[in-house]
Amino acid sequence: MLNGLSEVLVLGAGFGGLAAAVELRRLLPQEHSVTVVDRRDMFSMGFMNLWLMVGEKSMPRECLFPVKGVEKRGVRFINEEIVEIDPASRKVVTSGNVYTPDVVVVALGAEYAFDAVPGFREHAHNFYDLMGAYAAQNMLKDFTHGHIAILIAKPPYKCPPAPYEAALLIDSYMRRRGLRDKVEIDVYTPEPQPMPAAGPVGKRVEQFLTERGIRFHPRKQVKQIMDRRLVFEDDEAEFDLLLGVPPHRAPKPVRESPLVDETGWIPVNPQTMETRFRNVYAIGDVTSVKLPNGMFLPKAGVFAEAMALVAARRIAATLQNKPAEELFNGVGYCFFEVGEGQAGKIVANFFADPAPSIMFEPPSPRYRDEKVEFGNVRLSNWLL
Ligand SMILES: Cc1cc2nc3c(=O)[nH]c(=O)nc-3n(C[C@H](O)[C@H](O)[C@H](O)COP(=O)(O)OP(=O)(O)OC[C@H]3O[C@@H](n4cnc5c(N)ncnc54)[C@H](O)[C@@H]3O)c2cc1C
Repeated sequence: MLNGLSEVLVLGAGFGGLAAAVELRRLLPQEHSVTVVDRRDMFSMGFMNLWLMVGEKSMPRECLFPVKGVEKRGVRFINEEIVEIDPASRKVVTSGNVYTPDVVVVALGAEYAFDAVPGFREHAHNFYDLMGAYAAQNMLKDFTHGHIAILIAKPPYKCPPAPYEAALLIDSYMRRRGLRDKVEIDVYTPEPQPMPAAGPVGKRVEQFLTERGIRFHPRKQVKQIMDRRLVFEDDEAEFDLLLGVPPHRAPKPVRESPLVDETGWIPVNPQTMETRFRNVYAIGDVTSVKLPNGMFLPKAGVFAEAMALVAARRIAATLQNKPAEELFNGVGYCFFEVGEGQAGKIVANFFADPAPSIMFEPPSPRYRDEKVEFGNVRLSNWLL
């Protein structure tokens, strides 16, 4: 800290990092600096990948937004790769510099561990990545008959509803094109049901799949992917087009730091987002937050944002010698797309004891519109 003025460094300009940086800038007097670092200079929103895949968005105009836009909000943006984090001394080493800020917010999300499943990189389209979703769009455009498989390689993965939404959107897309009776759709997951942390709502999702003729295969742990063949622990399945969710892990500089615990993610105080290191906070997908029922908080943008606001408000209060009162409460919502221009709304309190309390509002065009608005509001608050 210089003359009572502080430097806050936010690592990662994704969903959580942008929300934290913009909120910090809004709350802190101008003399304090707020900087965000990311190796990417373009931001994209995960759920737009789904619309891109079925041709409802165009690339790059409707999917990629310059991170530099955050400078209009008074946040400094540094486009560098983070290579090392020493949380004890708050030293952050990047491809170009060494920083020692007063406060660090780690918002580096999750990276994909392709090599954990031999053949994934060669044979699956990773629609969790924007370019993978774009490649899938081109494959689906020319797909007139055959077998589409959607594969979840291994939990935890971000946005647990997304693979099921992908299946339902592809079903809808093929119906629109009059091809549904020529296309088979199968979803494979190691989990016992869709979205296990969501309990009965996951069962409702399974019903949506079966009502639309999408086959659901729980407890299928993939071992290897070969040309047009999925190899599971106990059997095999064939496909013509494979859309895959790769295994996730914390990004390398996080994995190699003392921030992580045995889960491989960063444990935080579930209400304040503090790590065990002084003035180092972590938010979003890179964290692990254990729930009262022993499961973990799902990785989702809506939680990354909520954690970001809590961390930002607590940091701003502390730096101004005010009481830090804001607490994260585990409440969030998301819009679950079922195709035909409709979405349901899931509202959850994951901190409810003994088990999360979750409500599902049935699909309607209104919730689909609210999902579009959800994205537009964030883009306009952070970047546009
Ligand atoms: C298909 C799909 C659909 C989704 N739908 C929804 C939805 O409907 N609702 C919802 O709430 N969530 C949804 N999500 C999940 C949501 O996108 C993530 O949970 C959210 O982005 C997490 O925010 P984050 O800030 O933790 O990480 P991210 O947004 O992933 O940001 C991490 C940032 O860190 C940067 N970074 C990583 N490593 C380094 C490094 N070494 N150096 C520099 N920079 C680095 C990355 O470039 C990235 O910009 C969806 C995700 C996908 C893939």
